[in-house]
Amino acid sequence: MSAKKNNNDLMDKIVSLCKRRGFVYPSSEIYGGLGSTWDYGPLGAELKRNLKNYWWDAMTNRRDDIEGLDAAILMHPQVWHTSGHVAEFADPLVDCKKCKARFRADKLAEERCPLKPSKSPLECGGELTEARQFNLMFKTFMGPVEDDAHVVFVRPETAQGIYVNFLNVKNSSRQKVPFGIAQVGKAFRNEITPGNFIFRTREFEQMEMQYFVHPSEDEKWFEYWRQERWEWYQSLGINMNKMRWHEHGQEELAHYAKTAYDIEYEYPFGWQELEGIHNRTDFDLSRHMEATGKDLRYSDDRYTEKFIPFIIETSAGVDRTLLTLLVDGYDEVEIKGEKRVFLRLSPRVAPIQVAVFPLVKKDGMPEFAEKVYLQLKKRFKAFYDVSGAIGRRYARMDEAGCPFGITVDGQTLEDETMTVRDRDTMEQKRMKEGELIEYLQRQINS
Ligand code: ATP
Repeated sequence: MSAKKNNNDLMDKIVSLCKRRGFVYPSSEIYGGLGSTWDYGPLGAELKRNLKNYWWDAMTNRRDDIEGLDAAILMHPQVWHTSGHVAEFADPLVDCKKCKARFRADKLAEERCPLKPSKSPLECGGELTEARQFNLMFKTFMGPVEDDAHVVFVRPETAQGIYVNFLNVKNSSRQKVPFGIAQVGKAFRNEITPGNFIFRTREFEQMEMQYFVHPSEDEKWFEYWRQERWEWYQSLGINMNKMRWHEHGQEELAHYAKTAYDIEYEYPFGWQELEGIHNRTDFDLSRHMEATGKDLRYSDDRYTEKFIPFIIETSAGVDRTLLTLLVDGYDEVEIKGEKRVFLRLSPRVAPIQVAVFPLVKKDGMPEFAEKVYLQLKKRFKAFYDVSGAIGRRYARMDEAGCPFGITVDGQTLEDETMTVRDRDTMEQKRMKEGELIEYLQRQINS
């Protein structure tokens, strides 16, 4: 089987697992769905929340130099003129004269012809129109009047909410440079060709942190944040052989950036950006200062002159990171002639961290197991399952990405020990309830 076919199969399997286990469903499915919009089900919602919390914790709670923010999605429309989005946030669009499909002119080699899916629009023989710029911002109207004066944009990135609050946050938190502002929130882009499941959608979530530094220290902090972000992914157990850096060349570099690196992951559909780390210089604050007349320069007693801080940005997609965890964690193993699916999610973010099973539904095992479950539930995402054969219960949890399973069996009733099974090593240990919490805590943090 060709590598391409294998890779398509893998995406199909992941999409199907997500539906089956309740990670991700097509949006408005009973109405036939809406192109490239997805809903996160019970396990997906939990995984997504854990992921955002894990990022938030690393960025804010564990540090003294970064403050959190939750800015509005709808902003003053002038913000998007100032930022350059109204004029320049556009992708080149081409139409195929034959099949009428639309493609991004800068990604033609990666696009597929709808009539001949094995070929790109460069190879299928369809004639393409000249490229024209297509602005990716969604618009709506504020208030009851639908005219040009009432147009507002639905934010295409969370970053601008941070820049316009730079003064507010600086003044209320009394932070001194270098310091950062972190935000997690929805962003919307009217992408020409969304696709690859939750990789590219029109509604998505970002985890962005903007770090304000003295202009003489930009390169030092840029390197610092590259390292930090790389290690963050590593701490999620992602296979780092499938991660790489991509440095933006001069032709790729955004007009505001001095240096830019993407962290890329090797998805089944190829190497693609997961997160961008950019040195945005003083571009954003200078533009907002010019447009509003507000003094956004910085000073404190360490500096003789006021200056506009440079910004080092780390910008990651929540949905893309989640997809990365699914792709990276998906594993098929043959056990006793049966193909079994394991989702090897890090215990740090797994939607269910520990499952508790009585071996059988009698002899006091369910009562014992339920008591243990109620204790574990206070500290971990725990799940209790009593129905069906024990093998099937384990299999369900393996697919759900649950890293630890606890079974109460006959021996438990004699000596109060239970088996604790590690999803990835398949090792089983016996321990008493008193040791469980410490063991799980250690495993989750290791
Ligand atoms: P791409 O080249 O893939 O369109 P970009 O360079 O426009 O991405 P940025 O503007 O740097 O992306 O956005 C930062 C991050 O937000 C990306 O690394 C990605 O994780 C996420 N992101 C951007 N666009 C989308 C989208 N349409 N769907 C899902 N996530 C997205």
